[in-house]
Amino acid sequence: MGSKRKESPTSDVHIRNDYTYAIETENLWRVYKVGVNVEVAALRGLNLQIEPGQFLALKGRSGSGKTTLLNCLSGLDRATAGVARVLGRDLAQLNDRQLTRWRREELGFVFQSFGLLPTLSAYENVELMLRIRGARSKERHDRTLYCLDLVGLRKWIDHRPYEMSGGQQQRVAIARALANTPKLILADEPTGELDSGTAREILSLFQSIVREENITILMASHDSLVDEYVDDVLQLQDGQIV
Ligand code: ADP
Ligand code: MG
Repeated sequence: MGSKRKESPTSDVHIRNDYTYAIETENLWRVYKVGVNVEVAALRGLNLQIEPGQFLALKGRSGSGKTTLLNCLSGLDRATAGVARVLGRDLAQLNDRQLTRWRREELGFVFQSFGLLPTLSAYENVELMLRIRGARSKERHDRTLYCLDLVGLRKWIDHRPYEMSGGQQQRVAIARALANTPKLILADEPTGELDSGTAREILSLFQSIVREENITILMASHDSLVDEYVDDVLQLQDGQIV
């Protein structure tokens, strides 16, 4: 895809391929100030090393820091202290503009509530990501169909979110996350609003995507179903991996 672009949007960020770990944190802290003298430490010196090409679950009770960790790894939030190195990038070294570009180029996101634009068709929801990135018309068309095919929705491309089941909407969201050929997908409770049969379909889809598209998926979940599908489980408790 990259060769067809006029200029690399991340030319000032320099995409790296020379990393051992897809995700690596050292003594990562995220402390929220919730009052004048009140702080909540959501991440407490968290250490993590994740090799590329794996499907991993991040488990832990509600409030254990899963969403906070994903936000610090995607650069949506900034850690208070410590190092977060993602796809070879020390995120603290990037300014906000660089972080936004880096995220758009290299990451995909999947959320619990799908997050699709309601007035756009499945096709348009996926294609929009490629428009934002400045891909050309033919490339956008081919990649959008490829991604919707991959998630099994080729026949549903003209449907809008409200015409689809929850599982189908989440498939569109996964196709959208894949559109920009990310190296890492971060998923926050992606099966949280799905019945268990549909959740299983989504989990096995993730499993095959990791194998076939050679990417890493880190998925926050407290669903016990996930254990059967992932390569490994990271257990989070009180802001630390246990
Ligand atoms: P999880 O996703 O595992 O449920 P979170 O990362 O959402 O956990 O929350 C971890 C802790 O941080 C909780 O105690 C939560 O109340 C607190 N927290 C999360 N976001 C904020 C915020 N924006 N401001 C203050 N406290 C927060
Ligand atoms: Mg959460």
